[in-house]
Amino acid sequence: MFSDLAEQLLIREQQGLKRYRSILESPQSTHVTIDGHAYLSFSSNDYLGLASHPVLVQSVCQGAQLYGVGSGASHLVNGHSTAHHLLEEALAQFTGFSEALLFSTGYMANIGVVTALVGRNDAIFADKLNHASLNDAAILSRAQLIRYPHFDLLTLERRLIASKAKRKLIITDAVFSMDGDVAPVENLVKLCNKYNAMLLLDDAHGFGVLGRNGRGILFTSEKRIESVRTALHASNIIYMATLGKAAGVFGAFVAASSEIIATLIQAAKSYIYTTASPPILAHILLKSLQLIEQDNWRRERLFQLIKQLKDAMRTLRWRLLPSNTPIQPLLIGDTKEAMRISQNLKSQGILVPAIRPPTVPRNTARLRISLSASHRDEDIARLASALQNTNAA
Ligand SMILES: *Cc1c(COP(=O)(O)O)cnc(C)c1O
Repeated sequence: MFSDLAEQLLIREQQGLKRYRSILESPQSTHVTIDGHAYLSFSSNDYLGLASHPVLVQSVCQGAQLYGVGSGASHLVNGHSTAHHLLEEALAQFTGFSEALLFSTGYMANIGVVTALVGRNDAIFADKLNHASLNDAAILSRAQLIRYPHFDLLTLERRLIASKAKRKLIITDAVFSMDGDVAPVENLVKLCNKYNAMLLLDDAHGFGVLGRNGRGILFTSEKRIESVRTALHASNIIYMATLGKAAGVFGAFVAASSEIIATLIQAAKSYIYTTASPPILAHILLKSLQLIEQDNWRRERLFQLIKQLKDAMRTLRWRLLPSNTPIQPLLIGDTKEAMRISQNLKSQGILVPAIRPPTVPRNTARLRISLSASHRDEDIARLASALQNTNAA
């Protein structure tokens, strides 16, 4: 058995698919120290530069004094603290839903929501490029899993029509994590209403970044806000977002109607059978939410940088995938080539991860450039010129 594992590992390595960890020795930021070397980094999901923000760092001490460091119990026993409660109220208000529920991670939130809402006689309709946590959630739920090609709503509609399932749940990334493109929310909501389905929107990469004051995907246009408001009335939308990306800390939440949140509290096992996250995190996140809401300049800066990057990448041999979010993938294709370029950049002191199968489809290996509001103009220029040099090599 163990020689079988060794063989599998060797195959991974030979295919250039073996993954390694390096050690981050500085706080997460656009300029980091890894394994003793300084790098300019385009590899975190810290889109607003909040992960090491002084205001948040300061609130750690206050949070610890108020709440201690550990929750000591699950939410349903006695680990549900004032800090969790306040943050849930603030998140519900911010996102416009009746209620919100905190989960320890986004992975656990997706697992919890999907398994609590659908089961054996039900069907899940899932975009082919969804995040792994949504796929795993679907499998664990035992509902029939029906996948549709990326953004192909005609196929989705045909499959909804053909389905005899008791409950129907559409699950999708709102901003696709390896592509940066944005799901067609209004049309998904329309389909949900027409075929009496629920919609789980995973806005891990949109929350804090997109929409009015960073409220996320549902607030990106007046038309969208209107269509969602109508649907909210019918309460078939479940909004999920993580708090370890733009929010800069850790955790996740689900916002939905009171009925859905009440159901999750009773039935989401990844909520019930796990220790509540440290209340100190919720305390920091309350501050982080204030910064997200107040400081529009961070988002403005981020979108300015996105434009600057696109301009700077125009003359390269490779093309950026179409994306208007801080996830800007440079499509390379071949896995080893993507690895080579990523390594080459690293040797020039620039960190851009190569994303390989099975995270992305075969022959679509890419460099996932992710931008942060803390990047400087000269950081973008440096990346562009390093890529130009790689180009010539
Ligand atoms: C990161 C991510 C998650 C998981 O969230 P964690 O809090 O990191 O567990 C879920 N869905 C998507 C789309 C993500 O990008």
